[in-house]
Amino acid sequence: MNDALHLSGIEKGYNLGRPNEIRVLNGADLTLARGEVCALVAPSGAGKSTLLHIAGLLDTPDAGRVTMAGDDLTGQSDRARTRARRQRIGFIYQFHHLLPEFTAAENIVLPQLANGTSAADARARAEDLLGRVGLSHRLDHRPAEMSGGEQQRTAFCRALANAPSLLLADEPTGNLDPGTSDTVFETLMALVRETGMSALIATHNLALAARMDRTMRLEGGLLV
Ligand code: ADP
Repeated sequence: MNDALHLSGIEKGYNLGRPNEIRVLNGADLTLARGEVCALVAPSGAGKSTLLHIAGLLDTPDAGRVTMAGDDLTGQSDRARTRARRQRIGFIYQFHHLLPEFTAAENIVLPQLANGTSAADARARAEDLLGRVGLSHRLDHRPAEMSGGEQQRTAFCRALANAPSLLLADEPTGNLDPGTSDTVFETLMALVRETGMSALIATHNLALAARMDRTMRLEGGLLV
């Protein structure tokens, strides 16, 4: 009941009933315990992003339930889902998606302001988070003035801005060169372990998956 995340019987398809129908998820089940870090491994096109978007309340399933810490979020209003997403879930994409016209610190301040944190507290938290990933010297730099690894570390900090209990990551180091990917991944794991958050991290990289607590595979629309 108090699992960080519970997905049950998740079904999702596109263009249903049409000739180009695609069934992506066919009753996927997943339970993520508190503090557990789970790798989600599957070939491209298998439905990892679809599953993460449903778990992250960015998309709704055709059938099945999404529960977080005992709260069933499936049938809730858009407003309630938006609030849950802002307060409880951190999302990291393969590409950083930082706002280009804002600095690293501002990118981490903004989601906190949206959540009701004061400007001073939000700035202090941004500085602390960026310091923890070794970016104290990049606080006031814009994304275009940072390397790929620095941009992605900033995106990690943004995902953690509102101290979520669940982190969802879609190939978080997938667009970095192998050397950078390794150190940036280490940084991410250290942050996750330090905060005690639960995480579901999609990756193609089996060496990275092996460093997590457990690996789930997506096969034929089911998690195994
Ligand atoms: P992965 O992240 O594992 O690469 P995705 O979840 O992105 O896989 O996609 C799974 C399948 O669903 C793919 O065949 C993809 O083409 C299809 N798909 C994803 N989003 C849509 C959409 N909005 N409309 C139609 N098909 C989609």
